Amino acid sequence: MTVDVTFLGTGTSHGVPVIGCSCPVCTSSDPRDQRYRSSILIQTEGRDILVDTGPEFRLQAIRAGIKRLDAVLYTHDHADHLHGIDDLRVFTHVATLPVYGNRRLVDCIADRFGYVLGRCEFAGGLPHVETHLFEGSEPMDIAGVEVQPVPIRHGDLTINGYRIGPFAYLTDCSGIPEASWGLLEDLDILVIGALRRAPHPTHFSIGQAVEAALRVGARQTYLTHLSHDELHGTLEASLPDSVHVAYDTLHVRAIG
Ligand SMILES: [Zn+2]
Ligand SMILES: [Zn+2]
Ligand SMILES: [Zn+2]
Repeated sequence: MTVDVTFLGTGTSHGVPVIGCSCPVCTSSDPRDQRYRSSILIQTEGRDILVDTGPEFRLQAIRAGIKRLDAVLYTHDHADHLHGIDDLRVFTHVATLPVYGNRRLVDCIADRFGYVLGRCEFAGGLPHVETHLFEGSEPMDIAGVEVQPVPIRHGDLTINGYRIGPFAYLTDCSGIPEASWGLLEDLDILVIGALRRAPHPTHFSIGQAVEAALRVGARQTYLTHLSHDELHGTLEASLPDSVHVAYDTLHVRAIG
């Protein structure tokens, strides 16, 4: 199968440039150093599946020319992955849009965006989403596409990465549980979060992400969810041959 992936955003929670920052990365003239909050669009088997709706979702959707969506997969509930949910509304004019996440994600949508689920009598302008709760790592049929949840650690939280055929996406990862390694065999393309060089309690450092990438052994790996500590060009040149730095608007195709 062929899985086409567009990086809608590849930055950490602040985005890059960071508001008010004049560091070399935030003032870089290389467009690859400008990073919206992390999100991808997956296109496979005639379906368009979004992973996460960060605060720039509207801008990302316009930039990428997204015209339709079949489903949204949420990795977790942090603001940089969820808070663009309102702008799903243009994709829900005809039918409700199914969105998928774990218990914490579904509860957070209900708590923070209760109006989305019809708890308030707003006159209109709402995204009509239906939440689908799942736990564990049982594969799911989503719009006819088999989606494999991949539980990963994000500090004290267990959140979800996702695998579709030869492609897997693990953002905001600080650890891969023993049971999840087996879900990552024979990948063509792996995307994995890598915040910066220095350690962080809830994200892999670049070194940890590269180590995990080499253990997974995908043909190609792309680092995402980057901070403003590394210039794209400098970091790309420092990595092993099979590991690359993702950037906004990058398109990759996984085959397998
Ligand atoms: Zn994040
Ligand atoms: Zn900066
Ligand atoms: Zn997070």
